[in-house]
Order: sequence, then structure tokens, then C-alpha cells
Amino acid sequence: MDVALYTHADMFDHRPGDWHPERPERLAAVIEALEDAADLCLIPADAPLAERGDLELVHPHAYVERILTLSPGRDAVQLDPDTYVSAGSLLAARRAAGAVVEATRATARGEATRSFCAVRPPGHHAEPETAMGFCIFSNVAIAARAAQAAGFRKVAVVDFDIHHGNGTEAVFRGHPELMFASIQQHPMWPGSGRPQASDPPNIVNAVVAPGASAAEWRKTFERLMPKVDAFAPDLVIVSAGFDAHRRDPIGAAGQSLEAEDFAWATRAILEVARARAKGRVVSSLEGGYDLEALGQSALAHVRALAEG
Ligand SMILES: [Zn+2]
Repeated sequence: MDVALYTHADMFDHRPGDWHPERPERLAAVIEALEDAADLCLIPADAPLAERGDLELVHPHAYVERILTLSPGRDAVQLDPDTYVSAGSLLAARRAAGAVVEATRATARGEATRSFCAVRPPGHHAEPETAMGFCIFSNVAIAARAAQAAGFRKVAVVDFDIHHGNGTEAVFRGHPELMFASIQQHPMWPGSGRPQASDPPNIVNAVVAPGASAAEWRKTFERLMPKVDAFAPDLVIVSAGFDAHRRDPIGAAGQSLEAEDFAWATRAILEVARARAKGRVVSSLEGGYDLEALGQSALAHVRALAEG
């Protein structure tokens, strides 16, 4: 099956700092790994700039205004201990959100069934009023709201990044027709993401301990899928973070996954998407900080997306 690949060169110009792990080379590693795969049929698609109205599906007007009127000079503006805005970041952040929004709209128009958005900055930690953890806009949450506006009644996000997608969850808590199903390591920054008895039915978290085996991770992930299936989404969006890879420097000594484990998780998501959502999946890059592991994991993920 064809996979639409949404990306844009502007996203190389988000430069949080030479020391920063969320660096432009990440995007190059992903794109090069995908382009080197002769067996993949990728349909290249330009990531458009998200409009203010799209960003404001999730973020209050005042937040969007504050971010878009920043004017960083030589030094990046620091938004939180980990999150910086350089001169090129505003276009990059709008392209990152715009990619996922456009991928969902193209899916709604029936032009694509599978899409992968190779984007940065990532989005799943950005809360409506707070940039956080390398994330400026809440890319997949914005896309989920845009998907609803485009005619999909119920949208599920499956998040397999090693960190909890606190931003996506914060948005979805008020929207019972949006499901957030997420696996993360605990304990781990940002500290949230343990299942709570008070969680509404559309918020489903599962945690793995530091040092868990790949088999334990799979067993835990597998338990999320019947809940996504029962929710019966019309579209599945994936927050595809690859920092649970055993070589990842941020998840260091955390999880034990290999590229093939991400392909396995992708197939589990596809099974639900085929049964409930006519196979429609939009995936968006979140974390993953070892360049080689990131490239190989993204490739395994996209290859699985193409399996049909
Ligand atoms: Zn992460």
C-alpha cells in the first residue's frame, strides 16, 4: 500500500541548540532511512503551515499569539527547561502541526489511507497553554480536532513514545469522542501517565517499569488494543516516538525495544484500524534520539504501515 510522507525542509531550521537532543539530524535520519528503502512506495507531500484557526482548535488564542509573535534573534528563546524557539522554529512548528492536520484532511477526502508525518518539533507534551518537553504545538491533538471537523466522529490516538503524552491527554479529557491510548515507562519524566481509577473511559494509560523486557512491553501494549477496538474509532492517529529503543540515549537503560518491536506494535494498531476505521492511519513522529535506531525504527514502522 502507498504511504503518504508529509515533511518539509523548514523543519530542519528549528534549532534549539547544538547540545540539544531534539536536533535537525533526527529528521535527516528518518527521511534518509525511508528514501533508501527501495521496497517502499512513498508519496511525497509538502507539510503546509498550520493556520491559526487550526492551532486554536486546541490552544487558546492568547497562547498562539504569544508563540507566533516571538522573534528570536541569534539566541533561541527558552520556553521551559527543555523547549526553545530559534529563528526558524515558528515555521517548523507550524509545518509540524500542519503536516498532521493535512494528512487527516487528505484521509477524510479519501485521498490517502496511510500517512506518515516526518516532523519536528514533536507535539505530545505541549498542553493547551504550555510549551513543554521539546514540544510547542500539540500536533496530533490539533489533527484529531481537525479530523472531527473534517467529518470523522471518533478519533483514537495511540502513543508508544517512552514518555507519557500529557499534552494530548490534557486536550482529550474534555472530548469523550477522542480516545487517548498510551504506553509509557513509569517512573519517567513528565511523571504522569499511570492509570487512575478516576480516568474517563476515553483515557487509557498503561505503564512499563524501567528495564522491562521487550516481551513485557509487548504484553502491556497488547492490553491497550481491545480498548481502542471497543471505542471503534473512525480514524487512528499514532504518536510514533521511538525512544523506547534499547539504544536511545534519553530512554537510556529504560526500555529494550528493537526496530522490529515498533513494526509489531504498528501491526497491532493496523488490525484495529482495519476492523474499525477502514484501515485509516495517520502517524506522526514524536521522540527518538539515537540517529541510527531512530532511522531504522521509523523505517520498520512505515514498512508495517505499507503492509496493507
Ligand atoms: Zn519521548
